[in-house]
Amino acid sequence: MSRTPLSTATSLLAAALVLAACDRPADAPGPSGTDGENQASRAGIDAADFAAHVQALSSDEFAGRAPGSIGEEKTVAYLTAEFERLGLQPGNDGSYLQTVPMVETTADASTVLTLQVDGEPRELQFGSDMVINTRTGEAQVEIDDSQLVFVGYGVNAPELGWNDYAGVDVEGKTVVMFVNDPGFHTEDAELFEGQRMTYYGRWTYKYEEAARQGAAAAIVIHDTEGASYGWDVVKNSWSGPQFDLPAAGDPNPRLPAQGWITGDVARSLMSDLGHDLDELYTAANQRGFEAIALDATLSLDLASTTSLKTSPNLVAILPGTTQADEAIVYMGHWDHIGDHEGEGDTIYNGAIDNATGIAGILEIAEAFVNQEPAPERSVVFLAVTLEESGLLGSQYYVANPSVPLEQTVAVINLDALPVIGPARDMTVVGFGSSQLEDILKQQTDTQDRVLKAEATPESGFYFRSDHFNFAKAGVPALYAKGGDDLIEGGVDAGQRAQSDYRNNRYHQPGDEFDPNWNFEGVIQDLEALYGVGRELAANEQWPTWYEGNPFLAAQQQLRGSAAE
Ligand SMILES: [Zn+2]
Repeated sequence: MSRTPLSTATSLLAAALVLAACDRPADAPGPSGTDGENQASRAGIDAADFAAHVQALSSDEFAGRAPGSIGEEKTVAYLTAEFERLGLQPGNDGSYLQTVPMVETTADASTVLTLQVDGEPRELQFGSDMVINTRTGEAQVEIDDSQLVFVGYGVNAPELGWNDYAGVDVEGKTVVMFVNDPGFHTEDAELFEGQRMTYYGRWTYKYEEAARQGAAAAIVIHDTEGASYGWDVVKNSWSGPQFDLPAAGDPNPRLPAQGWITGDVARSLMSDLGHDLDELYTAANQRGFEAIALDATLSLDLASTTSLKTSPNLVAILPGTTQADEAIVYMGHWDHIGDHEGEGDTIYNGAIDNATGIAGILEIAEAFVNQEPAPERSVVFLAVTLEESGLLGSQYYVANPSVPLEQTVAVINLDALPVIGPARDMTVVGFGSSQLEDILKQQTDTQDRVLKAEATPESGFYFRSDHFNFAKAGVPALYAKGGDDLIEGGVDAGQRAQSDYRNNRYHQPGDEFDPNWNFEGVIQDLEALYGVGRELAANEQWPTWYEGNPFLAAQQQLRGSAAE
């Protein structure tokens, strides 16, 4: 690694923290590894070790770590060896591996969706007018003359006193709705947190709620601002295979069919039914909106090819000394998008996304192993698979946890840690969610750093990584990483570095390890995240979601059943 000269008190403090972490007392228990020459540096959170992990995991040998590939084998072997070296216990019935089943479903692209509009048939073509899929794993889905109901944004949010399904029974019907939420479209900060994307704005939520309501199908109306991407993105990501956990074993209902229609199709459909799309937006943005039954039905004959695959999560546990039945979870996804065929460099190495997160977990694990006194609560180190296929590994773990969720104090997610040098801030994705942020703040205070919301809260990144599955189940979830107000160069330099990553490396072959990276900032991030877990593992507190958070009710339900 290359170290830049330390120029400020903040950097000196950071360096002191790093040194303190490395400086294991001579009489402390040593690591169980055999590479004796390296033992002194393998004591805790250490830049050289972190770099070595990232370099190995993102090397061409690991072929982009695609599930089911040689990269999976290499990653499993690497993590197993590291967990053993650290003396961590297997987290799944004597094994570090937890097999995650996945069903791959590809809808026939010649599928036609037929609407009867005011008695007239109208055919919507896959790709140009609509996309549609089933998440049931069924090879054949048939829907006949299911009535269309416009349900606004399709939101049922008791804590906000908002229910687009109030007074309407959509059992067996096809619900049609807008993407995002009223706050986004009205820019009214009093409604659904204004421009910031809420849980209810995510299209995934809308299908889940429609399934809970018993609908036969759910159709989201695309608009570029609301979705934060154009129709091409919808079309591309919904063409080809879609990935799910098998429906058996999932307690949540699934929709027989779900999809999108273009804004143009929606506008002309609504106009033929005597409604103006803009007026529907206005109506749906009002509190007390009432669903509108439409004089139209949907018929669909959806053929799909399906196949079943598996890929493992890796789970290791450091048992607590006095409260071993309660746990703090550190999580990162090991998978990336593999080796694609084509010209030139075809390996999507995934160095930042997410070799950094896995390396971070290993370094934090090492710090816990060497910690004195040892943690009182257990600490779980979870490397999940199939994140890039829709957060499936974490979804499976949440349904089959090593420590019951009601005994899980918190989850801390590490995904795509920026390695751009030390910063004056630390970014909390989904800032303002839970009391975990108060504990994180105590840590960053000692580093002379401030916590900050992510730059684009309207993109909803909080709902797009693995901790989201824990959040939905009620477990407080923290997703925080390096800031962009760099000690050297300030916000300008930080944002330049971040957009360089987004534009030139993110999900591209260029996401590669660079020996010239400045590791000071990422080490501070790991120290802070370790500090949160160290605090939680040493006391009896149960941090909660903040009042008004959509996941608080789920936590109260979870904890209620745990309380005697
Ligand atoms: Zn990632």
